[in-house]
Amino acid sequence: MLKIEHLRKVFPDGTEAIKDISVEIKKGEFVIIIGLSGSGKSTLLRCINRLIEPTSGRIRFNDIDITSAPRGQLKHIRQKIGMIFQQFNLIKRSSVLTNVLTGKLSEVSTLPSLLGIFPKKFKEEAMQNIERVGLKGREYSRADKLSGGQQQRVAIARTLMQNPELLLADEPVASLDPATSHSVMKYLKQINVEDGITVLCNLHFLSLAREYGTRIIALKDGILVFDGSPAEINDDRFREIYGKDAIEVEIR
Ligand code: ADP
Ligand code: MG
Repeated sequence: MLKIEHLRKVFPDGTEAIKDISVEIKKGEFVIIIGLSGSGKSTLLRCINRLIEPTSGRIRFNDIDITSAPRGQLKHIRQKIGMIFQQFNLIKRSSVLTNVLTGKLSEVSTLPSLLGIFPKKFKEEAMQNIERVGLKGREYSRADKLSGGQQQRVAIARTLMQNPELLLADEPVASLDPATSHSVMKYLKQINVEDGITVLCNLHFLSLAREYGTRIIALKDGILVFDGSPAEINDDRFREIYGKDAIEVEIR
């Protein structure tokens, strides 16, 4: 479903964040990308939906070339690719329901929709997605009154409104404590298994990666240094890859 070929990203200041990465992701996979801070994980994810313009290489999504897609087509592709972030990116002072409904904004980008006058079917869909992430009863709570884990679950429900085929998650649990991290990862796993949504998730921590991923990709200084099953990457292999820095990634 996703084919990345010889991807390279050099930022204007000369930083080469991604150096010739090629990888193919199949439908239904739960791929975890691990690596130290600065290894290129975010850059890689953001190149996929072109929040960052790749310098060279090609990314194909369902045989459509994302890298050369004109704006109109890119908008269409982005509807199929959901994204969640470390900082949740919710509208803090708005309700859970309003936040989830904004997941439909790519379809109804009109003023009435922005003002909260959404068609009834969207509202029902939003209520269902809120229930799916375990937040039934919190529909009218203000987003910023929820815990971090709950806010991330709102972000998951919001992205479900897009009916995405692919979900990009950039360190979705980096600002959460270990127990809450599991509750968020559990819902990501659930939508992967139940809805067949392919997940590409950046994580710092090997233990979480091994528990939830069906496949692990490791980056180091913009280079792909490991690609295999969770069973293949034990602590020794990990130390081999990251040397003395391995501890930073192992903490949880
Ligand atoms: P990670 O997500 O693994 O922490 P990033 O993809 O954020 O890594 O960063 C990879 C490298 O690119 C780092 O050296 C970082 O400093 C650099 N980088 C990221 N964004 C920019 C930018 N906008 N301009 C210049 N350098 C950047
Ligand atoms: Mg990052």
